[in-house]
Amino acid sequence: MDESEGIDAGEARAIRTRLQAIYDVVPVGITITDPEGHIIDCNPASETLLGITREEHLSRRYDKGWEIFDEDGQPMPPERFASVRALTEGSEIRDQLMEVRHPDGRSVWLSVSASPVLRDGIGVVIAYVNVSELVDASRQIQRLALHDALTELPNHTLCLDLVDQLIRSARRHDEQVAALHLDLDKFREINETLGHGTGDHLLKLTAARLRELAGPNDVVARFSGDEFLLAAPGGDPGTLARQVLEVVATPVETARGRIVLTASIGIACFPEDAGDAAELLRHADIAMTRSKASRNRHSFYNADMGRQVEETLNLARDLDGALENGDLQLVFQPQFDLASRSINGAEVLLRWHHPQRGWISPAEFIPIAEKRGMMTAVGEWVMRRACQQLHDWGRLGLKLPGRLAINVSAQQFDHPDFIDRTADIVRAANVTPESLEIELTENSVAVDPERATQVLHAFQEMGMGLALDDFGIGYSSLTYLRQFEVHKLKIDGSFIQKMVELESERTIVATIIGMARTLGLRTLAEGVETAEQADLLAELGCQSVQGFLFGYPVAADEFAREWLGKPAQKEPA
Ligand code: C2E
Ligand code: CA
Ligand code: CA
Repeated sequence: MDESEGIDAGEARAIRTRLQAIYDVVPVGITITDPEGHIIDCNPASETLLGITREEHLSRRYDKGWEIFDEDGQPMPPERFASVRALTEGSEIRDQLMEVRHPDGRSVWLSVSASPVLRDGIGVVIAYVNVSELVDASRQIQRLALHDALTELPNHTLCLDLVDQLIRSARRHDEQVAALHLDLDKFREINETLGHGTGDHLLKLTAARLRELAGPNDVVARFSGDEFLLAAPGGDPGTLARQVLEVVATPVETARGRIVLTASIGIACFPEDAGDAAELLRHADIAMTRSKASRNRHSFYNADMGRQVEETLNLARDLDGALENGDLQLVFQPQFDLASRSINGAEVLLRWHHPQRGWISPAEFIPIAEKRGMMTAVGEWVMRRACQQLHDWGRLGLKLPGRLAINVSAQQFDHPDFIDRTADIVRAANVTPESLEIELTENSVAVDPERATQVLHAFQEMGMGLALDDFGIGYSSLTYLRQFEVHKLKIDGSFIQKMVELESERTIVATIIGMARTLGLRTLAEGVETAEQADLLAELGCQSVQGFLFGYPVAADEFAREWLGKPAQKEPA
């Protein structure tokens, strides 16, 4: 008997009755499994929530026979179920959102919590509530905010996001993405002469025609008024443009007779004309304007590119050779503990000495390298050389206090093998991961937070430091900060440089420092140039600093002499 814990049989019966009543009436589904995952009990609410009978339910296992989808509409593999994870991880999983498809085809959104019990023959207890209304409402809000009400196409904001996704996947598959910016000709006149009702009808019709022409992976969006965008990976953009013009020009019968719409199209392609979604859309728009001006029905951004763009292309070509010719170099900038003013780390920065143009700033050539898809190669070169330098210093008996921070670009971070390749480089150079720190911008981690969480976790496991660079100018999202295992926020230099004069900037810096403290993160202020800035930062509780006031980026040898106490050939000042 289980009435052994100091309660008598009557009391036990009363407790059981009460529990049974709760079990039977709560609108919360409850499923109980044995330690092997066979379902051994369920309450009445589970029948409606899961759309199956008690008998059917009891014949199942917790990981088989369910049709469950995640928030992105993807089938959820059983190892991600809260119930399965609760058992394998041995801890409670709370509030997992899943869409459960019933045998009759209907589906409900459930928020599922699961708790491992692991005694008295029980494995996990799974509890779930219906949150379909909540999910519907939030989707509705998103839909309204991201779609054009008339045509139901994505609006500019969503379009940017979708094109960004196309570009990311194109990068992985080495494909191009064409963006066609379409503007209907003389639409205002049509609207005025035929009335807005007909105007709206024509816009809806155009939207439908574009959608029909487009492939399932293409993006079709409506910007303001009579402007549309079609973005398509792969394929020949010129052909696509002609097809678009053709379907748009299919005659339409209206109350006032037949109408033939014409349009102008501007085309820009990733990666030739643009490195990211915003730039791609901007360039397609510019090409469209030129198309209108020249009365060409479609124009490529390329064809209209001026001298400036040519120069960029030359630079890009030269950059190809720079890696081999040894024209790339590293410099090292020290970082300091603000209170003690002692060195507590360094950042590696890339330099390019161009045979004709002299020194070129990374701010200028890194975007080009990104566009040309070269940043993975360049980034790995930096990583390899930086590790080698640490190793060489070590052999000379010189130790860098703290970590050596290495910048990682979004493209490098996006590479599927990023973790493995970094680990290989670190291992090959024979340095400890603890002596390194990865600097990432928020933009590289914010796009695919789930993957970023995994990558950052892997680095954390390896023992590397993780810093969020240029903090304050990106999303600055609290959710991400809590989700990602970063150690340090690098407060962007633009705030530091204005913080003495402007209260607004001071407030931002103070807020970042305060937030970092709450989250247990370290702070480093970049670009500190004056003693006033340093004093103010100390007052606000910032821990570390980096900037011209304390030390310029210098070549390895000079860095070793100046900051690592390398004894040799120091010139008397
Ligand atoms: P960042 O990561 O924010 O690097 C700090 C930049 O601020 C560096 O410019 C540095 O020289 C400059 N700086 C340091 N102290 C001061 C100061 O007191 N005042 C001012 N005005 N500037 C200061 P740099 O070397 O031109 O680098 C520019 C950007 O290029 C870097 O910004 C980083 O985003 C990128 N970058 C540089 N090297 C690499 C690299 O190896 N890989 C990647 N992915 N990006 C790099
Ligand atoms: Ca940096
Ligand atoms: Ca920075």
